[in-house]
Amino acid sequence: MIEEDNESTRIEIDKLYQAISDAQEVISIIREKCTHDKTKKGKYMWRPGAMADVIMCKYCDEVIKSSNDPENFVVTTSTSNNDEDDYVVCSTTE
Ligand SMILES: [Zn+2]
Repeated sequence: MIEEDNESTRIEIDKLYQAISDAQEVISIIREKCTHDKTKKGKYMWRPGAMADVIMCKYCDEVIKSSNDPENFVVTTSTSNNDEDDYVVCSTTE
């Protein structure tokens, strides 16, 4: 009986991993189509304990610039008076 429960757990977990993988695929397709017109400040964790300050797209969360890449990390504060969100405008150096 316990063995059977473990098997159904295995199946359920594999289904969920597949769902995560499918969702990531959809996200990457959406991000490719996005024009990243507005950005916001954010944090990005690429492995546990390793965080970077980043500028990401307001709409799709694509990381546009990272503090790990200081040469391209130039940030100027937006002139718009948006109290709720801390949006910034990137000045690209590319
Ligand atoms: Zn975007």
